[in-house]
This record gives sequence, C-alpha cells and structure tokens, in this order.
Amino acid sequence: MRNLDYDMTESFDKHEAKFTTRHIPGVEGKEPSVTPPSSAPDQLMLKKPRPVSGGGRKRVIPPLWSKCPKCGEMLYDKELESKLNVCPSCGHHFPLTAWERIHSLVAPETFEQMDESMSSVDVLKFPGYMEKIAANQKKTGLRDAVITGLGQLDHHRIALGVMDFSFNGGSMGSVVGERLTRIIEMGTKLGLPVIICSTSGGARMYEGMFSLMQMAKTCGALAYHGKKGLPFISVLTDPTMAGVMASFASVGDLIIAEPAARIGFAGPRVIKDTTKAELPEGFQTAEFLREHGLVDAIVPRVELKARLSYFLDSMMHRHVSDTVSKI
Ligand SMILES: [Zn+2]
Repeated sequence: MRNLDYDMTESFDKHEAKFTTRHIPGVEGKEPSVTPPSSAPDQLMLKKPRPVSGGGRKRVIPPLWSKCPKCGEMLYDKELESKLNVCPSCGHHFPLTAWERIHSLVAPETFEQMDESMSSVDVLKFPGYMEKIAANQKKTGLRDAVITGLGQLDHHRIALGVMDFSFNGGSMGSVVGERLTRIIEMGTKLGLPVIICSTSGGARMYEGMFSLMQMAKTCGALAYHGKKGLPFISVLTDPTMAGVMASFASVGDLIIAEPAARIGFAGPRVIKDTTKAELPEGFQTAEFLREHGLVDAIVPRVELKARLSYFLDSMMHRHVSDTVSKI
C-alpha cells in the first residue's frame, strides 16, 4: 500500500529516538521502547511482550513505518492510519484501499455490499490472465478492483462504488463495469445519489473489447440515473487515467478531486510524442484541471465526508423540489 522500499532496520534505528522514546512517570530519563518489558505486574498489563532475540536468528522488524515520498518524513503507520493516510507534515495523500475509503465515508454497520461473488472469466483466453487475477485476489482479499454497495453517509443513503488501485492497477474489466452499472441502476431504482471514488490505470487489456464496452455501459446507466434528476458525484483520486477517466469518472454532475491527484487520459509521454509539443507545468494534476474547468473542487481527504454531505444536502434538496413541482 505504501512505499516501503527502504531499509526498514536502518530507518527504524534512525528515527526510533524521535518517535518511540517516551517518559515514564516516576522514572528518570527516557526509556526506549525496544527495552525488554518491565517485570512489574502493572507494566506487563500495558505492554505486549516482545520476543527475545537470540539463537542466531536474525530479528525481523515488522513494517511499522512509511516514508513520505513528498517530504521524506518517516511516519509511524498507526499514526498515518489515524489521519486517513495523509502525511501530517506536508499533506501528501497516500493511497487508500477500497475498504479504508468506504470506512472513511459511510458508517460501517450501514454498508451493504452488492455483487460480492462476481468474478472475472477469461473470455479471450489471454495467457496468464487467470493467474494474475488469482494473485491479485490473494494479495488484496478482493474479488476485483471495485467494491460497490449501499450505505449511509451522514444522513444520506447513497449508492457507492469505490475502486482499489492495488488490484491490478484498478483496471476496469467486465466485473468492474458490471458492478458499477448495477449499483448505478440500484441508485436509479431507489432514488439515491451515486458516488464513485475512482482510481485506475484504465481499461483492463486482458479483456480487450469487453473492457472497452464497460465505458459505454457505465455511462449509459448514469444517463438514466441523471434523467431521474438524481445526482452523481465523481471523486477522482490518484491516479485516475485512461478508460475510466474517459467514461464514468468524467461525467459527474460534480467532479471532486483529491489534492495533487494525477488525472488524465493518455500518459504525458505519449501525448508529448504524439503532439510534439511541450506540456505545461503541472499538466494532468488535479490543480491544473481545476484551473481549466474539468474539476469542480479539490477536497482534502479529511474533509471529504463532510463536503460530500454538504453537497448532497443541496443536490438532493433540489431533486426533491423538482419531483414535488412535477407532481
Ligand atoms: Zn510528507
């Protein structure tokens, strides 16, 4: 999930003093957390005993730290999680898994997942595709790159779709497209707003034309949803590219992006090679697209739930007013 490509032992030792030393009341000086647990009964209750190293085995330090790729700060994972994976020093947004995102937006006990058992099939007999799917399922615990369901965001019942980049780069194949289409249609049927949080490298090449068809299918479902006067809010997170950005992610009634998210269709190198033109500074970032009108608002992750609730207050109020006026 996070950038852990550094020497964990070195990083831990280097930053240990800064993050894990603490004062114990009644004890002079600082006690580093790597000392063996105290034998006092009350201390034993508070601390989880650490295994004693020895016997020639190399001690394995669990991955507790992540390095911020923007400011270089070493961050304690537990602290980072409590801040929704946003760096407290510079505000860099680390990726969130689909479940972390869902829990940050809707009350967990209200979330009803849909189409959970739906899984990809190898229509094109693409070599290695099923092995890749199996490896991604094992790695992430997900069936495919999106989770959909109904849930409660503050006082709003919503139809929600959340993509997960760690599952095959969040690529959209038949399962992603079908799950999203079904949750949109469920939103239309129940008169609910739809929110989709996207993160994707684009269409899934292993499914060829079948993955490209999902672009039209999801947009078609959203068109019917829109005809009922129901709002669709598209939340773009880092990165949202290619076939996903070229379909449902860019047709939101409201398009919100996380700070510094990379958003675009083709990658900058491809565009540069094709157009033979110099690309402007900050091209394909949320901020650039906000300036040029594609993105309506940039909302930091910690504010996202409150802002979505605020937007839905206004948008659903209008929907109710329109419905009443038609009657
Ligand atoms: Zn940082």
